Amino acid sequence: LKVLLAAKLGTCWGVKRAIDTTLATLEKEKPVYTLGELIHNPQFVKKLDSMGAIAIEDLSKAKKGSTVLIRAHGVPPEVIKEAGEAGLKVINATCPFVMRAQAFAKELAKEGYEVVIIGEKDHPEVIGIRGHAGKRAVVVESEEDASKVPPAAKLGVVIQTTQDAERAKRIVGILMDRTKDLKVHNTICRATEERQLAVRELARKVKAMVVVGGRNSGNTRRLVDISKEYGIPTFHVETARELDLKVFKGLETVGVTAGASTPDYLIKEVVEKLGGKFPIETAVAVLLRGDRVLLEKRSGAKRLYPNTWCFPGGFKRENEDPVQVLKRRLREELGIAAGDAKLIDDFEDVGGDEGSMIHHLFLVDRWDGEPAAKLAQELKWFPLSKLGEAKIPEVFRKHLSDVMEIIGAGRIKV
Ligand code: SF4
Repeated sequence: LKVLLAAKLGTCWGVKRAIDTTLATLEKEKPVYTLGELIHNPQFVKKLDSMGAIAIEDLSKAKKGSTVLIRAHGVPPEVIKEAGEAGLKVINATCPFVMRAQAFAKELAKEGYEVVIIGEKDHPEVIGIRGHAGKRAVVVESEEDASKVPPAAKLGVVIQTTQDAERAKRIVGILMDRTKDLKVHNTICRATEERQLAVRELARKVKAMVVVGGRNSGNTRRLVDISKEYGIPTFHVETARELDLKVFKGLETVGVTAGASTPDYLIKEVVEKLGGKFPIETAVAVLLRGDRVLLEKRSGAKRLYPNTWCFPGGFKRENEDPVQVLKRRLREELGIAAGDAKLIDDFEDVGGDEGSMIHHLFLVDRWDGEPAAKLAQELKWFPLSKLGEAKIPEVFRKHLSDVMEIIGAGRIKV
């Protein structure tokens, strides 16, 4: 049985950022509270609980003076206000892409549009966006709901970040008939689009699909639905234990994908149980100084990306966190002490000599040091505006415009 992985799968930037924020807070104090489960993944939530991050549904359950983390989905603005009034410290880990949807909803309402949110009524993200859009906002879950939206002079649309783009387009088509002035903000996030596109590509190549992720995770369920559209048997599992290998007997290929809130270790267990290999991981840094970025020249003798200019980075060791890899490699080999490292993207390269690889790309901003002198000849500060001209490996080149966009998003202060 050949196991093929989706080109994009598993935890997205926003979820990783919320997890990192929680872990960093836990190093300073315990317990910390997360308003709702930090991510839609029961196994990981249990693990966090044992570490001292307690999920609460109600602010009154948090001890006065303690810290409450707002998860990636975000909340209505009054919740943050209430937390402050209750004497709690608030750390807002709302994903910047969700914040963008919230801001558009608020702006549309201010401009006099009747706000329509395409998404799941009871999903925390939609509840949060609605809180920013005002009481009159309506939520549309289906084409049928869309046809019931009252006709209005001005309709303004925002979309839950994890919605299926194809379905959202159909709903927008219906809304066009309800008004003469329709303004649509496509707020489906890039991570969602990429995972949905990747599962479509994979579903065309394989005889069955396994989707790993929480049953309560909306974006995981959408990957399941998309895979089923291609008429292949699709199995939604939360852990490897649920996999029944008998069902794959006689099949040549099986695809694996995972929702944006599924941690790597759960995907790895599934891939390995199926007899596949989880990709080697690397951590790579975008080190910025003003409008220049640090590139490292790879010699022709290197097996990986020879004769190119790369972002500096290193391979992940067993049980090592990508941030640790990055700091170790930068410190030991380049003499760079990087303080803050924010994850901005990850992507897979399937063609390399080293086998399949996942690159975790970090933004290391505000770094003022100089690289170690002995390696200085191999390093170069390259103007960001000319990055497209540098001879950098194809896999990084493909993601360059995304990287540039994310560097911008990564700099948004939240
Ligand atoms: S799925 Fe998109 S919007 Fe949601 S947390 Fe991840 S990156 Fe942010």
